[in-house]
Amino acid sequence: MILKENYLAIRKELSDKNVQLITVSKTKPVDDLRELFLLGQKAFGENYVQELVEKQPQLSSEIEWHFIGHLQSNKVKMIAPFVHTIHAVDSFSLLLEIEKQAAKCNRTINCLLQIHIADEATKFGLTENELLEILEKIKSMPLKHAVIDGLMGMATFTEDESKIENEFRLLKLLFEKVKNDFLKSEKSFQQISMGMSSDYKIAVAQGSTMVRIGSLIFGERNYQQ
Ligand SMILES: *Cc1c(COP(=O)(O)O)cnc(C)c1O
Repeated sequence: MILKENYLAIRKELSDKNVQLITVSKTKPVDDLRELFLLGQKAFGENYVQELVEKQPQLSSEIEWHFIGHLQSNKVKMIAPFVHTIHAVDSFSLLLEIEKQAAKCNRTINCLLQIHIADEATKFGLTENELLEILEKIKSMPLKHAVIDGLMGMATFTEDESKIENEFRLLKLLFEKVKNDFLKSEKSFQQISMGMSSDYKIAVAQGSTMVRIGSLIFGERNYQQ
């Protein structure tokens, strides 16, 4: 069961602001995804490789799959034949593996570099310096199949909205800095993936171009299933 009214309202709100909606369907049955697809939703986000490779063949090939979870290098090959964007690239070695597997499939895969903006040690992501190091390496070794399409970040899980706002603002500033200093000639560096069910409005106000929304549209997740 999807929350259809929520979906339609959020979709309208975001399209008015030119922000792309990724509906996050982890743990949800393919019937729910299909229902949303029939309402016109094209971009779906999944967190687990096994779950994604099981769902993908059961659904329309028109779906744009976004992998938003933490990805281990040895699993890239399982999703490389079809994945559209990988949101949480947090090391140069992972980027190289995506380049290699995408090349084997003779396609390109969009990559978002995940930045650690929250103050929680548990959230993955690069520091600003680690990001700049990766960008330096790419300068001397341009990638052809892994397209650096922007940045991604997750804010601290807190009630403190000004803290969330600050974290998203920092990500936006870092994006502008990279765009101006490193990737001026890159047409592809366009996306700032930030915002989920609890904080997407704050993220959009801070310049998000892509939000990842799960529970507001699919209902709460039950991990026991
Ligand atoms: C699960 C998840 C989401 C969606 O979370 P909701 O709170 O259900 O909207 C967004 N981004 C990432 C990286 C996630 O793992």
